[in-house]
Amino acid sequence: METAATVAPSRLARVASGLRGYLRRTLDVALPPLCPACRDLVTDNGVCANCWSKLSFIAPPYCPRLGIPFVYDPGPGIQSMQAIADPPAFQRARAAVRYDDVAKQLVHAFKYSDRLDLAPMLGRWMARAGRELTDGADALVPVPLHWRRLWRRRFNQSAALAEAIARESGIAVAHHTLQRVKATAQQVGLSRKDRAANVSGAFRVAPDAKAAVAGRRLVLVDDVLTSGATVDACARALLRGGAAQVDVLVFARVVDPGKAPI
Ligand SMILES: [Zn+2]
Repeated sequence: METAATVAPSRLARVASGLRGYLRRTLDVALPPLCPACRDLVTDNGVCANCWSKLSFIAPPYCPRLGIPFVYDPGPGIQSMQAIADPPAFQRARAAVRYDDVAKQLVHAFKYSDRLDLAPMLGRWMARAGRELTDGADALVPVPLHWRRLWRRRFNQSAALAEAIARESGIAVAHHTLQRVKATAQQVGLSRKDRAANVSGAFRVAPDAKAAVAGRRLVLVDDVLTSGATVDACARALLRGGAAQVDVLVFARVVDPGKAPI
C-alpha cells in the first residue's frame, strides 16, 4: 500500500538530509543518529526498535531456485510453480528481507538520501541470507549503473553493498565486470514483459574482464529484486561470457507481485 510516508522524499527533505550528510562528513560532528526508516532519534546507527519489528527477514522454507518464501514447507528441493514455469537464467536467488514499507524506506535512504553509512548493516544482513551462495563462489559482481545515472547519483549502490558483503564473506568484488551498454528507462511502472524487453541486451561483460568470468562461479549483487528482469539480463551476459554459474543476492525482494515496485 502506498502511503504519504512511503513516496520519495520531498525536495526539502532531500536538501535537509543532504545537508546533514555534508555536515557529518565535513565537520565530523556528532549529530544525533536518526532511524534511517522513520527518522526518529535512535541511540546507535541502526534502525529503531519499532521499524526493526516491522522488517520481514526471509527465512526457510522458500523456493530453492527463486528464494520466494513458501507458506508451507513442501519438502526439500521442491521448487515454486513460478520457477518451474519460467526458469531464470541465474541458478539461485536469495534476499535478506521482503520489500515492504520499512525495507523501502531503507533503500530510499541508502540510494537517494546520502546514507551510504547503511551499507555495512544491509551488507551484513545480505551476507547472512546468501551464505550458501557465497560458499565456494569466486567473486561478487555488482549490477552496474549506466554512467549517466552513476554520474547523477555519484555512487553505485550495488557496488557499495557488494563491498560490505565482501567484508563479511571474504569473497572479493569483481568491479567493472559488467557494463551497462544501453541507458535503459527506469523499470518503475513497467509490466513484467516490458521490464524484460527494457533490459534485454543492456549488459555485456567488459572486454578486459573476460578472464575474470570464464569458468567462474559468480554472485550478482543488487539492492531490490522486483520482476528479476535486470538480474536475469545480467546473468545471461555473464553466462554468455562463459561463467560456470551465476547466483543472485539482493537486499530486498518483492514477494507479492501485485505490490508496486520502487
Ligand atoms: Zn524507525
